[in-house]
Amino acid sequence: MRRILLSVLLALTALASMPATAQQALTGLARLTGEGATLDERNGRLEVRLEMTQTVPWRVFTLDAPPRVVLDLSELDWTGFDAAALATGVRRVSALAAGTYRPGWSRMVIELAGPMAVAEAGMTTANDGAVLALRLEDSDADSFAAAAGAPESALFRLTDGAALPARPRPRGQGPLTVVIDPGHGGIDPGAERGGVREADLMLAFARELKEVLLRAGNINVVLTRDDDVFVPLESRVTIARRAGADVFLSLHADALAEGRAHGATVYTLSQEASDEASEKLAERHDRADLLAGVDLSQADDAVALVLMDMARTETAPRSEALADALVEGIYSATQSTYKSPRLQAGFSVLKAPDIPSALIELGFLSSERDLAKLTDPDWRRQAALGIRDALLYWAIEDAAAAERLRK
Ligand SMILES: [Zn+2]
Repeated sequence: MRRILLSVLLALTALASMPATAQQALTGLARLTGEGATLDERNGRLEVRLEMTQTVPWRVFTLDAPPRVVLDLSELDWTGFDAAALATGVRRVSALAAGTYRPGWSRMVIELAGPMAVAEAGMTTANDGAVLALRLEDSDADSFAAAAGAPESALFRLTDGAALPARPRPRGQGPLTVVIDPGHGGIDPGAERGGVREADLMLAFARELKEVLLRAGNINVVLTRDDDVFVPLESRVTIARRAGADVFLSLHADALAEGRAHGATVYTLSQEASDEASEKLAERHDRADLLAGVDLSQADDAVALVLMDMARTETAPRSEALADALVEGIYSATQSTYKSPRLQAGFSVLKAPDIPSALIELGFLSSERDLAKLTDPDWRRQAALGIRDALLYWAIEDAAAAERLRK
């Protein structure tokens, strides 16, 4: 396992030192060909094969809790690839995802039903293209845990925002910095209904909302992603802190498995979810991160956690007021809010201790009525105007509350 990784990383290093044009010629536009991606399970083994148009830089590693095999490849065109269909009926695979992970990089994550070891991994040229073949063999929990972990690589390293000082509360002067977070993206498409992907829809809405906010004047806007790429939940919070966000808004339009819920809801962070559906919704977003191959094994520093909790005590009521304003704003502009529109759940993306944060479920893709609204640019414009009004109102109230506290 260690030897396999090393040779792959050496290949990556060699590539990084090449001139840009040579890199492009090597890495551009590989796509699946022939049989595409296949899984073959027999005799305590699982064989994974990817047939591609050309050789590309790649690496493989494993992550624990839950056990996963992560395959990173230079950008691959996944058009027509059906992850769910590939995993169906394969006993050793409990879930599978594939897509863009970072700009220029693709990832396939195979969640395993039990511990397995990478016994063989290699890429060979064949039939004018290339074949990447992995052989996994049943192993045990202890040796799996010992071998698991993402390799250190500058290409994939996450930015670390822990050292940033807490954000001072704005006093009503100067521009308001709003960080808009379009949910999902890349390897994680979010909910999908009638050919509409939550990731695409929320990116479109984020861009529209950005325009509306910029036109209001005295508002800076930063998007956590402006492309169809995967951004881990923790990185979204880091981006907001780096940007010096006064407000963080995460945008979603999920599908619910049960019930006929429709209309917008606004969530704030709480360890105790308002109801079971809310709890499931927050869990599903954390799970999407895991299935995209994010390693959550590094524990937070205990001292940093205490400081964060102190900041959170001050931030929580500001987030609540923000969410109340958002419900009012969206209702006034669209008359489309859920029957109990103010909810709470443990959404990881809302965990910035010093930035008032809210998660807007603009509607449910599982509702025909909402789907029609969400895909209508005129309706979305109304919703954006409602959010703008809410932000402007909240900023004034928040500054006034800060003034009262100082006296
Ligand atoms: Zn979502």
